[in-house]
Amino acid sequence: MLARVRVHAGGAMTVGVSRRRLLAFGICVGGGLSMASVWPGTARASRGGPAQPDDSHAAPAERVSEKDSLAVALGYVADASRVDRKANPTYQAGASCSSCSWYQGKPGEGGGGPCTFFPGKLVDAHGWCRMWNKKL
Ligand code: SF4
Repeated sequence: MLARVRVHAGGAMTVGVSRRRLLAFGICVGGGLSMASVWPGTARASRGGPAQPDDSHAAPAERVSEKDSLAVALGYVADASRVDRKANPTYQAGASCSSCSWYQGKPGEGGGGPCTFFPGKLVDAHGWCRMWNKKL
């Protein structure tokens, strides 16, 4: 059904809208608001700021702890100068995460970056582990 507009004597107007149209409008508006609350990048917009496409990645990643079970298994240390050379005879002087092929950080990125072996966390650029492989 179409909306009907009636103009009464004296200039007053009334708009007749079917219940079906009102219901459809309500579903659209309600659905849009619900999507805005869960869609990545819209949370900031709902707080009054501009939406950023990468807002969901804004939180800094956690550093790998030397006490993590995987870090212990791989002999990871956040500072390569502390590598136990007796326990790690494959260690090469000057080797560190920043010179490792598995390191995905960029130079000057706050001293840390992602590593293939520690997904979701950051290793220290000056760190080292037994998986070190010279970056070519
Ligand atoms: S694999 Fe490479 S980048 Fe990752 S922790 Fe070991 S030495 Fe560092």
